[in-house]
Amino acid sequence: MTGLDVSAHGLVHIYRLEGNDVVALSGVDLDIASGEVVGLLGPSGSGKSTLLNLLAGLLQPSAGRLRVGDHDLTRLDEKGLARMRALDVGIVVQGAMRNLLPYASPVDNIRFAQRGARAAKRQDLPDPHEVLDLVGLADHARTSLDQLSPGQRQRLAVAVGLAARPGLLLLDEPTSQLDHEGRDEVLAAVEDVNRIIGTTVVAVTHDPEVAQRLRRTVTIRDGRVGAEGRRGEDFAVVGRDGSIALPPDILEAVPPGSLLRVHLEEDGSVRLILDDGAEGES
Ligand code: ADP
Ligand code: MG
Repeated sequence: MTGLDVSAHGLVHIYRLEGNDVVALSGVDLDIASGEVVGLLGPSGSGKSTLLNLLAGLLQPSAGRLRVGDHDLTRLDEKGLARMRALDVGIVVQGAMRNLLPYASPVDNIRFAQRGARAAKRQDLPDPHEVLDLVGLADHARTSLDQLSPGQRQRLAVAVGLAARPGLLLLDEPTSQLDHEGRDEVLAAVEDVNRIIGTTVVAVTHDPEVAQRLRRTVTIRDGRVGAEGRRGEDFAVVGRDGSIALPPDILEAVPPGSLLRVHLEEDGSVRLILDDGAEGES
């Protein structure tokens, strides 16, 4: 099994509440290659969890296009979405225990998480012990969950997300309640999974140290892709409509509505010159 690729184009999601619509995503353009590990960053309320839930097939897009592997998520009906969730996508929601059966052993948690894929007649389901081994819990197949450390519980939640060997693993704040040690062991487990079985991983995180360790980060701001990072360095992204989102510190100097002259220089650099109404340049 190799990782699934993802393509979002002008992706919009609106929560329809009585008399009040909330636009959570307002045109996300994002391509993720098979086997990538991508961190989703951004302030609270920017739409990260909404994007994760759309990728998981738990919500349907209001507009735009979204493809995960061969699945066109704007076209799938409820049955198709359920099948995709059972076979191809694993989601680990925030808070390890929300993904786990508290009174079942780790190995039984994996077996339980495989039931959807079994019902869909997947032939090549991995041995639950193998799944535990992937996240370093081979020796804890029967340990009671309350005897596991927080980091081990979070790794078990990741294993549950991987139980059916999905091509896409989605993690919402996988390290948020952990100390440094726990965080490092969860990150190492996710990196191992990605390296060994090639699963594509998208992880929402608030933690700058986690973001530093990821090859690629995407910042969601106001429901759009605001910036991209590569190994800790930030870049502005040119959207499909030609727009660029400026970083917040630059936006202070050039507020919305500012007129900018745009020059492509001979050395390949691009210069933005603020037209402040006065003569000359600034
Ligand atoms: P993040 O995960 O980045 O904090 P969310 O995706 O949870 O952001 O939320 C994006 C926006 O959508 C916020 O304004 C939030 O209040 C709103 N929102 C999220 N979930 C719901 C929901 N179930 N119903 C209505 N509005 C929601
Ligand atoms: Mg969230």
